[in-house]
Amino acid sequence: MKKPNQKAWLAGGDALCANPPDPPPGPAWRLVLLGAPGVGKGTQAELLCARLGACHLSTGDILRNAECQGPRERSPALQAALASMHKGELVSDEIMLELVGERGRCMRCCGGFVLDGFPRTVAQAEALDAILEREGVSLDAVFDYELPLDEVVERLGGRRVCPSCKAVYHLTRQPPQKPGICDVCGAQLIRREDDKPETILTRMRAYEATTRPLLEFYRQKGLLVTVPANGTPDEIYARAWISGHSAQASRSAPSVKAGRG
Ligand code: AMP
Repeated sequence: MKKPNQKAWLAGGDALCANPPDPPPGPAWRLVLLGAPGVGKGTQAELLCARLGACHLSTGDILRNAECQGPRERSPALQAALASMHKGELVSDEIMLELVGERGRCMRCCGGFVLDGFPRTVAQAEALDAILEREGVSLDAVFDYELPLDEVVERLGGRRVCPSCKAVYHLTRQPPQKPGICDVCGAQLIRREDDKPETILTRMRAYEATTRPLLEFYRQKGLLVTVPANGTPDEIYARAWISGHSAQASRSAPSVKAGRG
């Protein structure tokens, strides 16, 4: 299946995707991934997108992409957003809603989407509902990945990323072949600014205080699927896939999305 290149999502504005997805054989899937930072949402999003042909829409990636621009190209709002991100704090709802609102057409893309990192507050979830309604689409499921706090902190502390091709490693769970060097492109691996120990705790507090209440929001809509996030990425993926399908089937029996993927 063709891999969408996310250009329209990352750049926003009038940017077009160089490689728009083909329509899937059945209806497109539109998913939201929830879970504490470091729980593995990014990896799961990639696996789901590879299977579904959907686009990985990460709000963290929009901000990290903006970091590659020169400071003079960034708007004051974007500059403020990056400062919050570096401290491990949440970016204001106002800025996030502006960034996501102007990317609404990615939501109606025929290939579907996997939203990762958005929404993170109830206000963002309500705004997402309005954007989806405007674009004439709706969510199929919200996957909530759950892991004990100490394991989350260990995962974040050991995470290393490639600044060039964005590959993700872990010092012990998924080390690169040559220490500190990306297997894919040979670049020097780095620790994300917001994975530094002093920042991890701030991020976890932000998650507990503002993102956890979203679980109830989506439970009440009958969309929430809880996925234990222990084990290998493939095991977690299989768990989510099976639970997501059965939840979807029991929620809307007449439009079961059988035969996809
Ligand atoms: P992530 O890669 O999703 O962990 O996001 C990295 C950082 O970007 C977060 O720690 C926040 O500072 C910021 N961020 C990303 N998405 C959002 C959002 N929906 N609301 C507020 N801040 C966000």
